[in-house]
Amino acid sequence: MNKALIYLDNAASTPIDMEVQAVMIDSFEVFGNPSSVHVQGRKARVLVEKARRTVAKIMHVPPAEIFFTSGGTEANNAILWGCALDLGFKHFITSPLEHPAVLKPLEFLRQFAGIQVHFVHIDTLGHIDLKHLERLLEEYPGALVSLMHANNETGNLLPVNAVSELCKKLRAVFHSDTVQTIGKYSMDLSQLGFDYAVASAHKFHGPKGVGFMAIRSGKFFKPFITGGGQERNMRAGTENLPAIIGLTKALEIAHRRMAEDREYISSLKSACIGLLRERIPGVSFNGDAAGSSLHTILNVSLPLDMDAEMLLPSLDIAGICVSSGSACASGSNKTSHVLSAMGVDTHRPSVRISFGRQNTLKEVIVLVDVLARHDRPIH
Ligand code: PLP
Repeated sequence: MNKALIYLDNAASTPIDMEVQAVMIDSFEVFGNPSSVHVQGRKARVLVEKARRTVAKIMHVPPAEIFFTSGGTEANNAILWGCALDLGFKHFITSPLEHPAVLKPLEFLRQFAGIQVHFVHIDTLGHIDLKHLERLLEEYPGALVSLMHANNETGNLLPVNAVSELCKKLRAVFHSDTVQTIGKYSMDLSQLGFDYAVASAHKFHGPKGVGFMAIRSGKFFKPFITGGGQERNMRAGTENLPAIIGLTKALEIAHRRMAEDREYISSLKSACIGLLRERIPGVSFNGDAAGSSLHTILNVSLPLDMDAEMLLPSLDIAGICVSSGSACASGSNKTSHVLSAMGVDTHRPSVRISFGRQNTLKEVIVLVDVLARHDRPIH
């Protein structure tokens, strides 16, 4: 990566780990189709299944519950479509803070498959109202609950145990968009109460365009992508072997270094909060930044008199990459649906700073300095 660049947009994507890149390059040697019965095909099949076993072991589930996909968007879509169209769920309970990879398929299924979508209330910190969730579950027993583990804009964490207890008690099925947390926490998916969880390798220093869905046995469905019978009929299409190998290596590395990475990245986030408070009077943090929040994400609102329009371009010119709102939905500079739903004053300029293990304190200091010197045009 370019040395001068300060990349603080790790919630959007992370730089690929060199060890991951190396195993991927080696894997191109095995070019056979994993479905072919000849020696090249068998070699590829062995590697796919070895990768599945490794991923399954890390996630504490049987290999038969891991299905490789093209990433988080596809995994969320496959699950929601499968639950609506094949398993016949009619009521979906979600929150207004979900990623578009959940909200958009739900809206599509509402329009074209007649499902009903119920939104759980949230508070101003962006946490869900568990009492309201319980009332919705009582009203719609056996619903599909879709609530993300960590919000990609604010970093807020879901109280997973409380939600899964409620789901169990009221016989709901629990899908969680775990894209921002797989690779950041050691997760025992056999215990956490998720019926469906999803991952995306490029969020944990793996390649783009590959992920997986973890589906508890008994919760399988007929998928919306059909064709060859790959992934035990759950996801048709020739397996992307180099990407699967890269995902697996990236997940192994993330778990190997998890504790030290979390401690280090948390220290960068705390330092950033402290420096921003010191240098920019009136700064505030969206979500539960100092509380139940992912160590990699910090969402900041700057004072109203700072030039919102020029903020990202100025940072870009200074060689600093951050996002306004969510990168997946942005580039467009649209008002963040997450901040709006939380009642944040969206006239104030806001940035999402997201940290990775390659970042340094010096980079954080430079970022805060550039933000502190940002223009305050005379209104
Ligand atoms: N869900 C969340 C919470 C995300 O942050 C993202 C990506 O930003 C996605 C889903 C989409 O994942 P992918 O890029 O693998 O399609």
